[in-house]
Order: sequence, then C-alpha cells, then structure tokens
Amino acid sequence: MIGNETGIHAIASRIQKHGFICRKCGKCCSDTEEGDALVMVFPDEIHAIMNYTGLAWDDIAQPFPEVITINEKEVTFEWALIREGSRCRFLSDGVCSIYQVRPSICRTYPFMLEGHNLADPSFCNGIGYPISEEDALLLAADLIHRAEAEQQEEEKISSYVRQIQKTPGRRLLIDGEGITSIHG
Ligand code: SF4
Repeated sequence: MIGNETGIHAIASRIQKHGFICRKCGKCCSDTEEGDALVMVFPDEIHAIMNYTGLAWDDIAQPFPEVITINEKEVTFEWALIREGSRCRFLSDGVCSIYQVRPSICRTYPFMLEGHNLADPSFCNGIGYPISEEDALLLAADLIHRAEAEQQEEEKISSYVRQIQKTPGRRLLIDGEGITSIHG
C-alpha cells in the first residue's frame, strides 16, 4: 500500500511547495523540443474512453512503439494514445475532449512518485502557481492511485511474460489483459 494518511499528506505538502495549476496550454499533450508527448495507456483506461466516446479500441490506442526482443520475438508492452500529427488526437481547440476519463498519466502530469516520494516535476508552465490544500490532496490521491495501478499492471505483465515462448506469432503485445500476437 503506497498511500496512507501520512503519505498522502506528505505528498500533498510537497505539491503545494512546488505550486501547480493547469494553465490549459496543451503543451503536455503535444510534442515539444523537450520530447514527444506519447501517452501510455492501460486497457482499463481504454475501455473507459471507449464507453465515454463510443470509439473503437483501434481509434483510441495503438501498440506502444517501443519494441524489445525476448526469446527471438519482438515484444511490445502496453498501448499509446493515437496521435494526430504531433499531438494527442483528443486535444481539441487546446482542451482535452475526454477530460473526465483521461488516463492517469494525464491526470497527474507534471508529477509522478518515486517510491513513496514525489519526484521533481517535469517541465510545465503551470509549476509555481499556488494550489489549494484540497486540490493538492486530490492530486496526491491520483498519484497514489496511479502508482498502485502501475504496480498491479506490472505484476500481471510479469505473469504473461512467461508465456512468450509458447505464444504463436513473431510480434507480440503484452498488457494487463494478456498476451496477443500482432502482425502475424
Ligand atoms: S488524453 Fe487529454 S490530457 Fe491526455 S494527452 Fe490527450 S488531450 Fe492531453
């Protein structure tokens, strides 16, 4: 368990020290000189976006583009939100069109946890602006939820990695729902 009363308050207090308010600049949803804005997304988040938008899975996410070789198979882990050009397809007029169901990586940007502690935030125009204790606590709760979800997903993926050898196909995708062959 990552979060407890002390943990969530410590994280919220550090968020308040950094200060943060979303400036709605859309820069975290688009490629910048600092890097690309690829958003990793988990199956349960894709299902939530499907329910919210009515879109099909393939219209929301594509296999994450990083590929590694394991036992002579090309293996991809998880999914990435589909982009249009250099930005997320859900960025519309500078606003997230799936705000209510945006993935947890978007909910918690520019923060993440390292172990039980708050890491230094990524570059963001919103850092330095005062944030209320209530909003900092909500953000801390989202960060804890994200870390726990990532941990659970990792555990599920580890159990599927053992099946790589006996799964037919040259290119495989592994996520928390299983292992599947893509592109034959
Ligand atoms: S889902 Fe929304 S918040 Fe996340 S990158 Fe896309 S537009 Fe931005």
